[in-house]
Amino acid sequence: MLVVMQEGATEPQIQAVIDRLVALGFAIHRSTGVVHTVLGGVGPMESFDPRDFEVMDGVKECHRIMSPYKLASRSFRPAGTVVKVGDVEIGGGKVVVMAGPCSVETPEQISCAAEIVAKAGATVIRGGAFKPRSSPYSFQGLGEEGLRLLRKAADDNGLLVVSEVMDRSQIPLVAEYADILQVGARNMQNFNLLRELGNTRKPILLKRGIAATIEELLLSAEYIMAGGNYDVILCERGIRTFESYTRNTMDISAIPIVKKLSHLPMMADPSHGTGRRDKVLPMARAAVAAGADGLIIEVHHDPDHALSDGAQSLRPEQFTLLMEQLRIIAPAVGRTI
Ligand code: PEP
Ligand code: MN
Repeated sequence: MLVVMQEGATEPQIQAVIDRLVALGFAIHRSTGVVHTVLGGVGPMESFDPRDFEVMDGVKECHRIMSPYKLASRSFRPAGTVVKVGDVEIGGGKVVVMAGPCSVETPEQISCAAEIVAKAGATVIRGGAFKPRSSPYSFQGLGEEGLRLLRKAADDNGLLVVSEVMDRSQIPLVAEYADILQVGARNMQNFNLLRELGNTRKPILLKRGIAATIEELLLSAEYIMAGGNYDVILCERGIRTFESYTRNTMDISAIPIVKKLSHLPMMADPSHGTGRRDKVLPMARAAVAAGADGLIIEVHHDPDHALSDGAQSLRPEQFTLLMEQLRIIAPAVGRTI
């Protein structure tokens, strides 16, 4: 349920509402907007009568949230969430581009990638050090050494770092090196991992599972937020359908749907969404046109020899061209890049 406080409600008035909710057994999540403070309560709805709260001093309105996710619902923060990472804002006026190789492979490869993507205008470098591979015999990532190389390449080029965390035990290590922790599609419903990430204060990039509905994606975000970490960035990365031409089916419609249902920033990953280098540019353009707050794109200086996902990795000149095209498309939908 939600209690929206009046404009200018005093701290004692807000505290009185919180105390009453806590006494009923609710956990309180407070969102301080520019105009209104919103109190989200998660707890025993049977003991909650909105009328008891509507008459309290400083309360504007009060209602039950019908969706199964509460904190991820747009009504919790109607104005939308902007996740701030260093001086980068995700969910604001600027479309944020994260780019880099699928995996960190060698010092030369990652420093070359960082230079390419920074020069073209990306603000965050991606690169997996722990790789969720379908086959146990495929390259599994360089682990901590990969994270170290990624951090150095980012720092040398003024970039932030996003990297995947596959397991609870890896959180402290990945958090030491990365600015944003990525939860991959295969782990979207690893609830123990999500709960633990709720206890961290690092932004989380949560990718949609290959067979997950939009509601399930938002419920997974709810797991993280219920722990008090509200800096969740969602990402459409393609879902599995009967179509076999592409690796996955890029669900562009998920972007405006999520933007309506949730206040969280929504990004798009057309690399995994299509699995084909030649389809990444059109889907990236479509995602920005559809209102995506950011893109995550695989780029490799020599994709034909990449240790993972070479077929969907852009060549440097393709990435530069994409950035040029996005500089034309973004303003048409009220954004910059
Ligand atoms: C990745 O970003 O390299 C990755 C493995 O993505 P996903 O979890 O979307 O497959
Ligand atoms: Mn990949």
